[in-house]
Parts: sequence; structure tokens; C-alpha cells
Amino acid sequence: APRTVLISGCSSGIGLELAVQLAHDPKKRYQVVATMRDLRKKETLEAAAGEALGQTLTVAQLDVCSDESVAQCLSCIQGEVDVLVNNAGMGLVGPLEGLSLDAMQNVFDTNFFGAVRLVKAVLPGMKRRRQGHIVVISSVMGLQGVIFNDVYAASKFALEGFFESLAIQLLHFNIFISLVEPGPVVTEFEGKLLAQVSTAEFPGTDPDTLHYFRDLYLPASRELFRSVGQSPQDVVQAIVKVIGSTRPPLRQQTNIRYSPLTMLKTVDSSGSLYVRTTHCLLFRCPRLLSLGLRCLSCGCLPARVRPR
Ligand code: NAD
Repeated sequence: APRTVLISGCSSGIGLELAVQLAHDPKKRYQVVATMRDLRKKETLEAAAGEALGQTLTVAQLDVCSDESVAQCLSCIQGEVDVLVNNAGMGLVGPLEGLSLDAMQNVFDTNFFGAVRLVKAVLPGMKRRRQGHIVVISSVMGLQGVIFNDVYAASKFALEGFFESLAIQLLHFNIFISLVEPGPVVTEFEGKLLAQVSTAEFPGTDPDTLHYFRDLYLPASRELFRSVGQSPQDVVQAIVKVIGSTRPPLRQQTNIRYSPLTMLKTVDSSGSLYVRTTHCLLFRCPRLLSLGLRCLSCGCLPARVRPR
């Protein structure tokens, strides 16, 4: 029988693409429940699903921040969830001083507690049946911090710690956990953030910090998306492989062009190499950033940019 896959956040981006690709699996291994907070946004997904709609793909309402919505959605599914994909998420960028605690808590409510809420709801069934797979769309920012993304990165670190801990217990129940860690992906995600940032004033932030944010970080970030950004289709290819695997990995990065940066933490567990290198790339030699990833991987970075 096909496995039931429930995915959160399918109105756009990675969630939408994943729902469509799984629903079109040539071996028809999946029955996809593609969920979204606001069903008024379902047209794009339905159009992309084509003839799979109503066959291997159904659309359902689900707000990961609401207990009732989660209970309602699960009660509508006949049978149990075999694969849960925690994809819904939101970003938050900007100088810490200018961001409200409400905005920060909203990020944690969505990215972290949203996933926890869904896991709590499907886990009893998975444990009873001694099978299941929980996939979490984390980020390379779940592995290492990125300037001006403090709270977003923290929410992804929280997911990494939570699910790594849970993975140990769940091995006992034949339930697998997979944290997928994309680098930059060209979806609505970045556009939504930039729109937020263009109108935000970040009250209480000193002029130096605002200058670093607007004149150094924002152009560098755009450049990073342009130079190493992946398409949602590329990321989804990696997720589909993880879901189809008989022994799914706990962690899966999707972007080899980003790995020079993630490797910096692996090769120096003190963390200094990563922090100093990214600091240098942004503050001392911003023009190097577009070349930076290539330079880091081939070791040709000028000595003064190399961290000591
Ligand atoms: P996206 O903005 O297109 O998709 C995020 C989806 O989550 C949207 O459809 C949004 O409506 C939904 N969502 C937000 N709050 C929700 C809620 N309370 N309930 C249900 N749905 C909710 O962006 P994306 O790039 O496809 O992001 C998907 C996941 O990938 C996120 O978890 C994001 O953190 C992660 N990610 C994105 C990038 C990137 O650069 N785009 C990189 C690494 C990881």
C-alpha cells in the first residue's frame, strides 16, 4: 500500500514542489496530504498537481501554530501518517535591537513549536505501528549561525537539538528522523524577508549596525543567493531520496557548493575558524564573497583573509 505523507506549508516553495513530486512518483509509492494554513492559496498547488489531484494528492488546511487545526487535519486523514514532513517555516532578519520579542516568538512558534506540535500528534500512532519517518526541513543555519539571522538560526538549532535527541529514543520504535539542511534556496522565502526589511525601521539600532546590515549584509546575502542558490526542485530531489531510503540519514545537506562554509565548523570544533572566516568575508573583503566559497574550497584565499 502507498505510504501516507503529510507535508506542512505546501502553498509555495519547497513544500509545494515536494508534494507534487511525491504525488507523481512513477512507482506510486505515496499518498500525499499537502497542507497549508490558508486554503485560498491552493490554486498554484492544484495546477501543479494536475491529474494527481484527488488521486495521489489531496489538499488540507493546517496551521502548525494551532492545536485545533492540527487535530482537525489529522482526524480527516483515513489511516495513519507514515511520513511527516515538517516544512512550514518563516525567516526573520535584521539587527536584534530593532526586532520585537513578539516577532522572535512568532518565529519559534512556527519553526520550532509548529514542528513539535505535529510530531506530538503523529508519534503515538507511529509508535503503536512500530514504523514511521519524520523529515524536518532544517537549514545550514541549523548547523551554524549567520550574521543578522540570529533568531531564525536559533529556531533551526532548536530543531536540530530536539530531533537529534528524539532520534535516539525512536530507533527503538523503528521510527526514523531526517534533518534536511539546504543552503540558500530561491523561493518566496527570500522575497518575503526582503519585503519585510525594506519597510522595517529597526528602532533603537545604532547607525553603525544599521550600516553593516543594509550596506554590507543585504548585498552579500543577495549575492550568495545568486551565486550558490538552489532551485526548490534541486532541494526536493534530495528530500525525495531521503524519503525513499530504507535507512534514512539523520542529517542531509543538499548543496555541495555551500559545503566549504559548513566544513569550517567540522575542521575546527572550537568554532573560531567559521566565525572569523565569515566575519572576514563580510567586513574586510566583501568583494571576495562571490568568489569566497570557491576560494575557501580550493584554499587560495589571500593570507590576510584567512583566519588565524
Ligand atoms: P516559502 O516561504 O515558500 O514556504 C514556507 C511555507 O510555510 C509557506 O507556504 C508559508 O505559508 C508556510 N507557513 C508559514 N507559517 C505557517 C503556519 N503557521 N502554518 C502552516 N504553514 C505555514 O519558503 P521555502 O523556502 O519553501 O521554505 C520552506 C522551508 O525551508 C522552511 O522551513 C525554511 O525555513 C526552509 N529553508 C528555506 C531556505 C531558503 O533559502 N528558502 C533555506 C533553508 C531552509
